[in-house]
Amino acid sequence: MSSPEVPYLTNSADDYDPQSMTVAQARAVISAHLKPIKDTMRTPLRSALNHILAEDIISPMNVPPHINSAMDGYAVRFSDLSLTGETALTVCASVLAGATPPPPLKPGQAIRIMTGAALPENADTVVMQEQTRREGDQVWIQADQKNGQHVRMAGEDLHKGASALRRGQRLRAAELGLIASLGIGEVSVFRPLRVAFFSTGDELTSIGHPLTDGQIYDSNRYTLYGMLTSLGFDCFDLGVVRDHPVAIENAFEEASRMADVVLSSGGVSVGEADFIKPLLARMGKVVFWKIAMKPGRPLAYGQLGQCHFFGLPGNPVAVMVTFYAFVRDALLTLAGANPLPVVPGFTVRTTTALKKAPGRTEFQRGVLSQNAQGEWTVRSTGNQGSGILRSMSEANCFIVLPQDCGSVAAGAEVEVQLFEGLL
Ligand code: AMP
Ligand code: MG
Repeated sequence: MSSPEVPYLTNSADDYDPQSMTVAQARAVISAHLKPIKDTMRTPLRSALNHILAEDIISPMNVPPHINSAMDGYAVRFSDLSLTGETALTVCASVLAGATPPPPLKPGQAIRIMTGAALPENADTVVMQEQTRREGDQVWIQADQKNGQHVRMAGEDLHKGASALRRGQRLRAAELGLIASLGIGEVSVFRPLRVAFFSTGDELTSIGHPLTDGQIYDSNRYTLYGMLTSLGFDCFDLGVVRDHPVAIENAFEEASRMADVVLSSGGVSVGEADFIKPLLARMGKVVFWKIAMKPGRPLAYGQLGQCHFFGLPGNPVAVMVTFYAFVRDALLTLAGANPLPVVPGFTVRTTTALKKAPGRTEFQRGVLSQNAQGEWTVRSTGNQGSGILRSMSEANCFIVLPQDCGSVAAGAEVEVQLFEGLL
């Protein structure tokens, strides 16, 4: 891996000012290290959900394949219609969706047509049933119809030969449907990224075991599992690793043998039992380990052999915030996503005052809602402690407060980033 051309990056983790690494700089440094995986595999369409497309999809046909009706009503020739009053036409056939189109329409004729049914030749306009009156085999058409109305043109969704989807597109529900509409049942996707993770901490108990004095349940492996799985990655849960250098060394070795990316949580700070950073420096390379953000100041990024390594903080909220702020995009890039899915964010007024000291970017948890006047506003979830995991569950967005800003008064505008479509 070549080091990126950035002045604040050094190979030694200790000889630069950690406060100089802003959120944006850290993102840029990580991004400069990423080389997307190349391996692809063919997969049935349903299994491709959440994977990244490894080929361009060119439409092999017109979608829809034939000109058809967008309404239940009557297909007519617009030139037959009176511009000022009602017109009587002879109903010569009825056509349902899926039926072969009836013979070409002659002057003075109409056909009864259902939504999705193919239009006969010469018919160019569909009149809604509600604007007609039927008398035997005659139909009276109201005045004021528009030429070409309620007709779906062949190829109006996609023309034969047009680019339907590009390599690098993440496949969600809409893309599965789009590919299916082309009659394609199998696609080439990048093989899923392999992500191994473990928690560190002598205080951690795995669920299913009784808690003893001083212990807490390990929740980080569950938030990580959730975030990784919903992004479509293959994840390997290596369990809880004790705060002991040999145990962590073994976990590093095992994880880096099986994965493209290794994530740990906890033990990355400067406490007496924080071994992640020195071990990473010995076994691989530390690129950086401190960022001017809250929560999540200690975040180690580096390499373990061919693997990318993220040493996430231990606090449960900090794990989710740092995953969101750095790891998600890095993983999607490695997995072949290009361009990266857009993260929805916008500016709204906060209804609560927000406490903050200048110097770090903060990702506070907020609840975005619409007030009685229809205006979208955000309020804080309250206690912003990095251990309050409930705040992530109650929130539906981050309130992102820039590094240099201080406390924010109620009524001021703030930037929010939605969770939906993100995690
Ligand atoms: P550390 O970064 O290891 O000092 O951990 C910071 C805080 O996060 C401590 O209060 C830990 O007990 C807590 N913590 C660390 N790992 C986990 C975990 N896997 N689940 C829940 N809390 C954790
Ligand atoms: Mg710890």
